[in-house]
Order: sequence, then C-alpha cells, then structure tokens
Amino acid sequence: MLPIPFASSFVNPAGSAIRELFPYLSQPGIISLAGGYPSPSLFDAEGLQEAAARALSGGGALQYGATEGMPALREALALLCRSRGMVCSPSDLIVTTGSQQAFDLLLRIFIEPGDTVCVETPAYPAAIQALRLANAKIMAAPVDGQGLDVDALAARLALLPMAQRPRLVYTVPTFSNPCGTLLPAARREALVRLALQYHFLIVEDDPYGELSFIDDRPPSLYAVGQRIAGDGNPVLYLSSLSKTVAPALRIGWLTAPPDVLRRCVVAKQTMDLCTSPLAQQIAAEYLGAGRYPAGVERARTEYKQRMQAMADGLHARLGKKIAFVQPQGGMFVWLRSTVPVNAKQLFEAAVQCGVLYVPGAAFYPEAPDLGTLRLSFAAPDVGQIQEGIERLARAFAQAS
Ligand code: PMP
Repeated sequence: MLPIPFASSFVNPAGSAIRELFPYLSQPGIISLAGGYPSPSLFDAEGLQEAAARALSGGGALQYGATEGMPALREALALLCRSRGMVCSPSDLIVTTGSQQAFDLLLRIFIEPGDTVCVETPAYPAAIQALRLANAKIMAAPVDGQGLDVDALAARLALLPMAQRPRLVYTVPTFSNPCGTLLPAARREALVRLALQYHFLIVEDDPYGELSFIDDRPPSLYAVGQRIAGDGNPVLYLSSLSKTVAPALRIGWLTAPPDVLRRCVVAKQTMDLCTSPLAQQIAAEYLGAGRYPAGVERARTEYKQRMQAMADGLHARLGKKIAFVQPQGGMFVWLRSTVPVNAKQLFEAAVQCGVLYVPGAAFYPEAPDLGTLRLSFAAPDVGQIQEGIERLARAFAQAS
C-alpha cells in the first residue's frame, strides 16, 4: 500500500485500447489490419542512414538543444507548411516529440479541469485519452461521410449556455483517423467562421494530409483561417513526420501564434527540455537532402493500391453486410455493420480466423456504436489485405 493516493485522473486510468491489442500480434500467422503503422517497406532506410551519418559527424547533435527546436529543422518544417498553402516562417512553429506531445501541450496551456473540449466522434483515441487525463469535459460532435458535420455542430452550439461552450474543437479534417474522410472546402470555411462566432480554437491535427490519393484536396483549415481572419486565425495546426518519414524519429510540430508557442515552450521545458536533437538533426538532414517528396510520392502510390485492394475485397466478400466510405487518402477504412453483430463475438471470431482489427468502441468518448470497426491498409501488403478480408468475412459469417 502506498502512503498517498494517486492523482484523481490516475486512480483508474484506461490504457490505450489499440496498444492492448499488441499481445494478439504475436499469434503465429495473424494478419493485422489494426495498427496505424506506416509500411516498413516504405521507410527510406538508405536516405535516413545517410542523414544519420551526417547528423552524427559534427557532434553538435549530441548536445541539449533549444526547446523550440533546431533552427535548420524549423526552417525545413516551415517550408513544408508553405508547400501546404500556409503562410509560415520558422518562428511560427515549434518542434515537438511527435504531434501527440503538441496536443498534450495545448491541453496544458488551455484546459482547466471541467472545461469543455469538443471532439469529432468517432475520434483518434489518444486525443480522447489525453482529454480524460486533463479532466476535460468531452463534447462529442457527429461526423458523416465527409467528416465533421459542421451544421450539426452549429445547431448544438446555438443551444449551449455560454459556460458550457467548448474552448477547443479537435478535428482531423484531412483523411481522418479513424474514418478516412476528407472535409470539403465549404465545411472548412464554415467551421472557421463558427470558431470566430463562438470564440473557440480549432486544433487541426494533420498527420495524413500528404498521403493523398487525389490531385486536388482542399486547403488546410489553418490556411483557410489565415485567409478569413489573418492574425486572428482561430486554427492551431499539428503535424508530424511519423507517417511520411518514420515514427521512430518522433518529430512533430505545432504551428500557432507566438503567445501560444511561448506558453507551449514553457510547458515542454518540464516534459523533455527539448525534442531529441539527434532525431531533429537527422530529420533536418533528411529534409535538406531533398528526398522527402519522392518518399511521399511512393507512399501515395503504394497506399492507394492497398486501399483499392481492401475496398474491392470488402465489396466482394462482405457486400451488403457492411457500409463504408472509400477513403481518398490516409491509412484507414471505417466499417459499419449493416447486419446485427455482437462486437465481442466478432472480435473473438476474427482472432480465431487469424485477422486483427480495432473494434470501433475505442474511438468513442461515450455511447459507442458497437457495430463499427477500423481497418488499416497501410502496413499489410496487397496479398495480406486480400487474405485478411477473406478471414474477416469468415468471422462475420460466424458472428452474425
Ligand atoms: N494524430 C493522429 C490523428 C494520429 O493518427 C497519430 C498517430 N497514430 C498521431 C496524432 C500521433 O502521431 P505522432 O507519431 O506524431 O505522435
């Protein structure tokens, strides 16, 4: 027995539902359509090896660094932001240890226990988890086949008393996790205008935007906010090299106004002092060597093929038993069963048949739709995807 109790949010904390699937992964022959891991075949090992050798050669990357991030990397990330249609200079962003850290920093500087944060639902589970640990009051906003239902959110906001209005709205507008949806340009503009009307900030989480299977995609919410509101842009932008270069680098970033960045830097000082300077130098060398665009292009081509294999397999093998929106980018397909299934039975049958997915309940802060599941087409190859869908169809036959 410890002499003092744990802090209230850690008395009985729920761990990550996705990480709890890890033990099943060691089952021989299992095909995982579960994790949101990039394909190992797409890692540019040669380019990263060269970048790492250069990063280590001077020795400077072995020292502590500035909390804001290394100037060369901030420069390279600002360039990436500009290529995404944002007006951005290096001082408009800070480097974080994964974009996950950036979200946590924002909660630290903006959220008191009991404050309301609105989250598109279904939502990225680690965002829900971070909000729970921050003791935020989570307001679930509905999505449809095109992402956040901005009209429905506007209707909800109009009815809420001032004190219950959200301070932040969290969304993954471009190839969302878990739904794979793409928010249309008109809704982006409407959401920004809603933020200005009701005085909330939008947290735009964008790890997947470049993994696009189409040529024209709408501008980021951040860019829309800049166009509409200039310096009063209500959008805070998070992104990451995890899905386009390698998650092991743990390089993410936050683009936001100076008064937000300054406070996040203070919060980050007590977390990790700075993001690994070695990882930052490797990332800066890699981006500086100009290998990034070709790597993203390879990923887009490969993931598009894998997505198509998954969509074709689902149509052919599960047909009318499920409904889904074919994604135009990213890593995920979100399925809704159109026939009654028992979620627990379906998951057990799937594991028995040798296929793993993430049960949809993990993506809801409350009142989960138990007939939903998330599949990822990023890590398995086309053959594994086809076999995985065969197995999933067998599991559905057993459970429905
Ligand atoms: N946001 C979303 C929507 C994600 O899917 C992920 C990774 N699964 C992250 C953030 C975290 O990314 P990072 O590796 O940069 O922390």
